[in-house]
Amino acid sequence: MKALGKLKSQKGLWMYDPPKPEVGNNDILVKIKKTAICGTDLHIYNWDQWSQNTIKVPMTIGHEFVGEVVELGSEVKGLELGDRVSGEGHITCGHCRNCRAGKRHLCRNTIGIGVNRDGCFAEYLSMPAGNAFKIPESISDDVASCLDPFGNAAHTALSFDLVGEDVLITGAGPIGIFATAICRHVGARHVVITDVNDYRLDLARKMGATKAINVTKESVSQTASDLGMTEGFDVALEMSGVRSAFDDILSNMNHGGKIALLGIPSSEMAIDWNKVIFKGLFIKGIYGREMFETWYKMTSILQAGLDITPVITHNFKVDDFEEAFELMNTGHTGKVVLDWQ
Ligand code: NAD
Ligand code: ZN
Repeated sequence: MKALGKLKSQKGLWMYDPPKPEVGNNDILVKIKKTAICGTDLHIYNWDQWSQNTIKVPMTIGHEFVGEVVELGSEVKGLELGDRVSGEGHITCGHCRNCRAGKRHLCRNTIGIGVNRDGCFAEYLSMPAGNAFKIPESISDDVASCLDPFGNAAHTALSFDLVGEDVLITGAGPIGIFATAICRHVGARHVVITDVNDYRLDLARKMGATKAINVTKESVSQTASDLGMTEGFDVALEMSGVRSAFDDILSNMNHGGKIALLGIPSSEMAIDWNKVIFKGLFIKGIYGREMFETWYKMTSILQAGLDITPVITHNFKVDDFEEAFELMNTGHTGKVVLDWQ
């Protein structure tokens, strides 16, 4: 079958022809319709230090997808041939304490599709049936291919009560922009988002940000005061992985504020712990999506009318993958979708 893999330990990806994956008793085979490119895939394409330490070549990459179930393992229940599915890219062990408690997102033995085992940038993906999520008809293939990052945004944003709250989001990548839309949808008052990239800040404005500010030109504190906020932000979502962005959060939180951290710093990161202590801040780390509460919530939010299609800025035929990855490297993209049909 056709697949996009990391075949050599150097920059790039290669179209190749691995055998169709095997389907175990508890697995399904998905014929891929569309896939979206994650920042992680871009790291693997660019072959940065993290990828060199993590990815074993040769391997098919990719974990954001939508497709159709074309084969069912003998033990699979609750799915049928022809079902349109996306799925959770984190395969959990099922026997650790958290898995047994139904808190699969906290499994300590998680394996990543397209990171630790073959991924979805292929004609066919085999995965545990328990990781699939059936897509309601009203959700388009393009949107369904982006449920994984939309789920990161939903898991992070829905960690706290947002109704009537003032929210600061640092990082207007696709996930920060998705989170902006969710915060407004569920009833936040002001949503201020920061970045250093004007293209992405424009997109965040389109998705409902009260203010989208370029921190190289404007400050968060001035913006808050212009909005009439006298006591600081109630909630912050860190979605850049950048130290100065975290500093912006710590300096601008109200006392007792709640912070969720999704952005992954590239190395150890020092912060001003005095601000955390004396402001009585609450900090929560976020990894992945809750299985499967986040998936139910996010599909319900879409069905309730939130339109995230403006965040999907580019579509490519999969054969033009190189152009797609290089465009992402320019930073002038929201989500980029690859068509496998
Ligand atoms: P992205 O790289 O597209 O977006 C990050 C954004 O931060 C970029 O637009 C960048 O310009 C911006 N930025 C850079 N410096 C900044 C600054 N000083 N202030 C504010 N913004 C700044 O990434 P994404 O796909 O939207 O993901 C967001 C973050 O979440 C990344 O760090 C990613 O690695 C991480 N992530 C974590 C998980 C998880 O499970 N914890 C899952 C997916 C992604
Ligand atoms: Zn587990």
